[in-house]
Formats: sequence, structure tokens, C-alpha cells
Amino acid sequence: MKAAILENKGILTYSPDVPTPTVKPGHVLLRVKAVSICGSDISRYAKGHRLYPLILGHECAGIIAEVGAGVSRDLIGQHAAIIPLVPCFECEQCRRGYYSACHRYSFIGSRQDGGFAEYVELPQRNALIVPPDMKFEEAALIEPSTVARHILDLGHFEAGQSAVVLGAGSIGLMIVQWLRILGASLIICTDVSDDNLETARKLGAHVTLNPRQVDVTAEIKKLASDGVDLALEAAGVPQTLAQTITVTHPRGFIVCGGNQPLDASLPMQFIEDLMRKELHLVGCFMSYSAPFPGHEWTETIEAIRNGQLDMQTMISHHYPLSAAPDIFARIAAHQLAHRKIILHPEE
Ligand SMILES: [Zn+2]
Ligand SMILES: [Zn+2]
Repeated sequence: MKAAILENKGILTYSPDVPTPTVKPGHVLLRVKAVSICGSDISRYAKGHRLYPLILGHECAGIIAEVGAGVSRDLIGQHAAIIPLVPCFECEQCRRGYYSACHRYSFIGSRQDGGFAEYVELPQRNALIVPPDMKFEEAALIEPSTVARHILDLGHFEAGQSAVVLGAGSIGLMIVQWLRILGASLIICTDVSDDNLETARKLGAHVTLNPRQVDVTAEIKKLASDGVDLALEAAGVPQTLAQTITVTHPRGFIVCGGNQPLDASLPMQFIEDLMRKELHLVGCFMSYSAPFPGHEWTETIEAIRNGQLDMQTMISHHYPLSAAPDIFARIAAHQLAHRKIILHPEE
């Protein structure tokens, strides 16, 4: 089969001749029709990864081509998206329903082979059946949508509340959409790219602010003098994390959704201000809740079906899978301005 393989740090190769995985009992074989590049895929490529060789890719959808022993043959031909987390379902955290805290989880596309390939093999429970009329590229974007939906749960978001989304990358844009769908009264979005902000407005942001052009905290104070109910950090930079404290009102919620540079730090003034305002600071890791994989996933399918989630605006490029080595190199070198990039193994 065709596959893009991460061979080492910064080395991604494409081969038309990789052995197709055999289906284990209780598992299915998915013929990949669309797979999206995640920021975490680029980081595994650019900064190095725990495991080589590996087929990356966890935002992925296709058609069930084959089933293993014990799996109903009725699934063959059905369309499915990948649920990438493979929890053990036995440890203490799994029993509590905190699957992303599982003591011994696997993850399709980072700890085992993923979707940058013609076929991917996965447990039946990790194949999320989607309606046959859903476009594959839209089904491939279910996973990043579930992260945004989960972030709003962690921030205890309720209809009628105000929110600031810091960062208008893929997750930030998905958060903007879910805030709109769930009835936020005020959606403010910040980013250093005017293109990203224009997309944010198209997807539902009421106000967009570019910190290179305006004083973001001063502008937010004009709109909500004591601050907003909820701040969602989706840029993954220390400056925006620090900003969340200033723009959130007392007793408000802050959710950390962006991966921060681990060699950076924040002044302890951050904690002092957090204490004085009695803020809730919450982390987010993946997008799961009980029963597995969680309502984040079923709600996303429904929001795509009823047209509330605009996945097409999220997508900037389509390429064949064979272009993966070139695309990864260009993204890592910051030479390709993009939103979601969809790769198609069959082209
Ligand atoms: Zn991802
Ligand atoms: Zn577990």
C-alpha cells in the first residue's frame, strides 16, 4: 500500500510499496479516503518522536474494507472516522471515564501506525461510524472539532456567556464555531495573522483583534470592563497564556488548549493574579468523556450533518498523499500559510 513514513527527526518518506496491515480479531481495516495534517504531526516530524519508523496521522476518515474475527461483516462498506485514543479500559482512570489519563494507552498515529497511508488497522471501537453522505474530508476533521467541544466543557461554558479565544489556528477556529453553535453572547478572537482573523469572523467571531496592531487587553476591557466569562488559550505561547489572567473576570474560567514551549516560563505574578481573582485554570488533553469516546464525538457528527459546523472553511489545501514529504518540509520551514490540509491516498 501507499504510505508516508516518519523515518527519523525531519525525515518523512513516501513509498507506494508498504505491506498492508493484517486485521487482528476484534479490529477493522479502514481504507483511508482523507487524512488531515495536525500541528502535532508537524511537531513530531520537526522536533523528533519516540518511535521510528511510524506512520503518523490521526485526523482520518475512510471506508471499512475488512473486519477481523468476531466483528460483524455488516461493517464492511460503512464510512468511519478514526477515534485515535486506544485506552486500556481497565485501569483506575479508565474506570472513572478519564480515558486520556489512562495508565497504558495507545494512540493511532503516534504510538501505533496511523492514517497517512492507504489502509489503517484499528480496534473496532476506534472506528466512529459516520453517515454515508458525509464528505470524507469533513469526517477527517471530527477529531479536532471534538477537542474544541471538550475544551468548552472543561471551561464550564454556558449559553449566553462571553469568551475570548486566543489563537485562530485549527483548534481556535473550531472553538469559535462551537461558541457560536452553543450560543455565546460575545466571541472575541485574537491572532497575529489577519488571514486567520478573517476566517474567525467568517466562522462566528464577533470581534477580532491582532496584537501586532492593537492593545488586546485594552480593547477587551472596552467590550467587557471586568473581563469575559471564559478565556481559551489556543495559541500555545506564554504571552497569550499570561493575557488570559487579565482578560477574565473574577471567578472566571481559563482553559489551556495550546501546547506551550517547554523551555519558556511565566512570572509568578501570574499565580498572584490568579489568586486575587479566584480564577479557575484548567488543562485540556485530548477530547474524551464517558461513555467512550464521549458526547464530543456524537455532537460533532450531528453539527456537521445539520450544517452548523462549517468544515469547508477550515480547509485551505488538498494534496495527494505522495506530496506529504514536501508539504511537511514546507510547513516545518514556515513556508506554507495554511489552515487544514487534507491528504488523499487515492490520488
Ligand atoms: Zn490532532
Ligand atoms: Zn486505562
